[in-house]
Amino acid sequence: MINYPWGDQTPYYSFNWYLKQNYNHPVRKVTVDAGFTCPNRDGTVTTGGCTYCNNDSFNPSYNDRRKSLRWQIDQGIDFLSRRYGSEKYMVYFQPYSNTHAPLEELRQLYEEALQVPDVIGLTIGTRPDCVDEAKLDYLAELGRQFDVTIEYGLESISDTTLQRINRGHDVKAYETAMRMSAERGLKTCTHIIIGFPWEEETQWLETAAYLSEQKTTFLKVHQLHVVKNTAMAKEYQRMPFHVFGYEEYRQFLLKFIARLSPEIVLQRLAGEAPPNILIAPKWNVQMGSFIKDFRELCRQENIWQGKDYKP
Ligand code: SF4
Repeated sequence: MINYPWGDQTPYYSFNWYLKQNYNHPVRKVTVDAGFTCPNRDGTVTTGGCTYCNNDSFNPSYNDRRKSLRWQIDQGIDFLSRRYGSEKYMVYFQPYSNTHAPLEELRQLYEEALQVPDVIGLTIGTRPDCVDEAKLDYLAELGRQFDVTIEYGLESISDTTLQRINRGHDVKAYETAMRMSAERGLKTCTHIIIGFPWEEETQWLETAAYLSEQKTTFLKVHQLHVVKNTAMAKEYQRMPFHVFGYEEYRQFLLKFIARLSPEIVLQRLAGEAPPNILIAPKWNVQMGSFIKDFRELCRQENIWQGKDYKP
């Protein structure tokens, strides 16, 4: 039996294991929609949004921006405690860019969330070009009392791709945000999409080495989804392009995690989108089965996170 550096028998450093190691109670994230928009939609940077983006693809049912923040947190806690027996919570500001407002407004929202009983921290999803010194200073201050993670969408390590998908920022913006966050001791999570049809496997594998160098605390990886009501869906319908098959993606992921630093905690290995908006790829596999199958594949192939990592 292999003794992995993170200390359990899962062949990669899973978020569940990280939570078990760091908290005395079962912890879950409660997702909220705090009514933000995004600089890539409201014209601050550009309009139209990223070509693949449809925020309906990641909202749980208890998220409703017309309802108060407190209502959403209470509903989320009620659901998660009954379903998973969780006892403590991180409020996850997920849809759109959750630092895209004046600092005073952010302060009010974040602190309202932190006052809810059993909430122990925040995860704040945003764009790398949507933070500044003052906002990060404030988050670092909160981070001394609570568990605070800032989550940056990078999506690709290629500036050409970032232009092509209308991200409205470059890789350098991500590096700057990561440096500013690290200087303040903030935990970071990076979101990356694998499978843009003009990219190649070598580039995706380089992404593992790149993210290891950037020392992101957490990582979310997911396969490209084509979802309804996006510019990418129109491109796909005009001229269908290759998307990952289930087996193909699993085989890719083996190589990817092998090149990844064993210190990065994997929060997500694949994405899910609601069937009513997903156009491709349609794997018809529940996330629980995906994870179970992938762990089994790692064991069969004798692969684990960091096996081929070269610092
Ligand atoms: S993916 Fe994020 S940055 Fe891009 S348009 Fe959607 S909310 Fe905005």
